[in-house]
Amino acid sequence: MRYFRLPCPPLAFFILAATGFAAGPQDFLPPVQAWHGASEALIAKPDNPWITPSEKTGLTDSPNYDDTIAWLKKLCAATPQVKLVEFGRTAQGRVLYVVIASKEGVATPAALAANGRPTLLAQAGIHSGEIDGKDAGLMLLRDIAFGGKTTLLDHANFLFVPIFNADGHERSSEWNRPNQRGPVHQGWRTSAQNLNLNRDYMKADAPEMQAMIQLLRTANPSLYLDLHVTDGLDYQYDITYEYQGWGGAQPASSPHNSVWLDRYFRPAMDAALKQAGHIPGRYFDPTNDRDLTEGIISGNGDPRFSTGYGDLRHIPTVLLETHSLKPYRQRVLGTYVFLESALRSVSEHGAELRAAIAADRVARLDKIPVNWGYGDGEAKTIDLLGIAYEDYVSPASGVKEVRWLGQPKVYAGLTTRDNKPGLLLTRPKAYWVPVTKPEVIARLKIHGVQFETLAKPRTVAVEMYRLVNPKIQPGEGTHPFEARHTLTTGAQRLTRTETFPAGSVRVSTDQPLGDLATVLLEPEAKDSLVGWGFFSEILQRTEYIEGYVVAPLAEKMLVDDPKLKAEFETKLAADEKFAKDPTARLQWFYARSKFYDDRYLLYPVGIER
Ligand SMILES: [Zn+2]
Repeated sequence: MRYFRLPCPPLAFFILAATGFAAGPQDFLPPVQAWHGASEALIAKPDNPWITPSEKTGLTDSPNYDDTIAWLKKLCAATPQVKLVEFGRTAQGRVLYVVIASKEGVATPAALAANGRPTLLAQAGIHSGEIDGKDAGLMLLRDIAFGGKTTLLDHANFLFVPIFNADGHERSSEWNRPNQRGPVHQGWRTSAQNLNLNRDYMKADAPEMQAMIQLLRTANPSLYLDLHVTDGLDYQYDITYEYQGWGGAQPASSPHNSVWLDRYFRPAMDAALKQAGHIPGRYFDPTNDRDLTEGIISGNGDPRFSTGYGDLRHIPTVLLETHSLKPYRQRVLGTYVFLESALRSVSEHGAELRAAIAADRVARLDKIPVNWGYGDGEAKTIDLLGIAYEDYVSPASGVKEVRWLGQPKVYAGLTTRDNKPGLLLTRPKAYWVPVTKPEVIARLKIHGVQFETLAKPRTVAVEMYRLVNPKIQPGEGTHPFEARHTLTTGAQRLTRTETFPAGSVRVSTDQPLGDLATVLLEPEAKDSLVGWGFFSEILQRTEYIEGYVVAPLAEKMLVDDPKLKAEFETKLAADEKFAKDPTARLQWFYARSKFYDDRYLLYPVGIER
């Protein structure tokens, strides 16, 4: 899941654990609904030599990293079309693997570009406890190799990352995800560095994320699937999904890709899932998780998430969320159907997909939407396929809690709201990043943003920003968020003549990644590098003036500059607090003197309009 809910497992969990309650760890979950569907036929028979490790457990458990990779190596050794290659290392040194499945059996992601077919990239386990995608992908690869589905590779390539957050995957336990019905052993949400990889797309701090971005650059996928499991509340849908610009209700940075997803992808997914016995729906969150009748929220997310990031890079990106209260078996089968249908959809509508991506990559949108709100868009209604519930007063919380009853119920005419962008950024011609920010230049490089490096100093007239009212850690209290001190700020435009030393870079926005560069470098964007705390040093003032020096200086300024004197007197009359504060009064003069630090709060990146 994407959005923050309870910071820890429910209290009942600890009570049951501490009292040694005899039943399984998740016996406090709501009732399960019986399920049967055509997708059950996908499960290998016990005597199938290529039965997957999870199928051996009846799709109730999931293999560890070593067993997963060993099984994939065996499959690759027996199948010329399928290769297993390293694309990076985790913080603890584990190899990150990607499976390359192609008709010719190419050996590197970069070589896929030569065969001209669209590539589907699916990643499982960015949140490694949500691992349905891994076991579904293994089954699909087996069926491509030995189950009569080799023709899936006739018109598309399949890239599959079985375990993205591999370190988290090995922090395995039966006690990791109290909201989720299996598998028995589940990985941990964050990496070994306690980073949530699905917040790391823009700041790219984690080695795993840096490797993934490199894979996106070299493989150039035509469709990117990010496979998750969601909790939150009970409902009938077992497979929900989302992408930027769904239904055209919200602006996206890749509008052509959104149209392709609306027109070709979504109808195909929904039809295939329904035919296989699943209930597809759009991914949503409740407005209030104690009262569903208040409505639900869907919509675009910021580029810290896969869908927002893919949109900025012009890679059609889909978030898949299976429903945590459905049994593991049902979820894996739904994910299998989704993966296979996505591969078919890319195959059947590859020409339209290629045209959409090309159109978005050459477009240079004047306005780039950022700072997505949460359920603040226009209200519509939906007939939600929900589950009945009742309220009761919990002796543990002392307030009304929800008890899901396991009975299907349609919530007719329920209010649903999309997210709205809080800001539309205006695209400039270029940015000038000084050599003094090597970590910023390094991030641009990781993302694949093109820039020109200055061989010698250049003095240019640029627009610059002075930060206005910067706030550290808004909404996060005092603790860091994802190991960073995040920042929100306003920005006042100034015109300056600035010298950029050799080694500084000029980033033109006239490139396919111009939108991404703009969001990374505009300080008012929540997921910009300013927003992620890469520029915290400019918040500090570092030169001062003594009181016995500033008082005579101020007196001289009053005598020398009648205009300043008038301004000061107006301020005194209008602002009583100021008039009574000697330090503030002297500071007022210091800030207007030539001694003042004119780089205080000055964002050191130049903007060329
Ligand atoms: Zn997730």
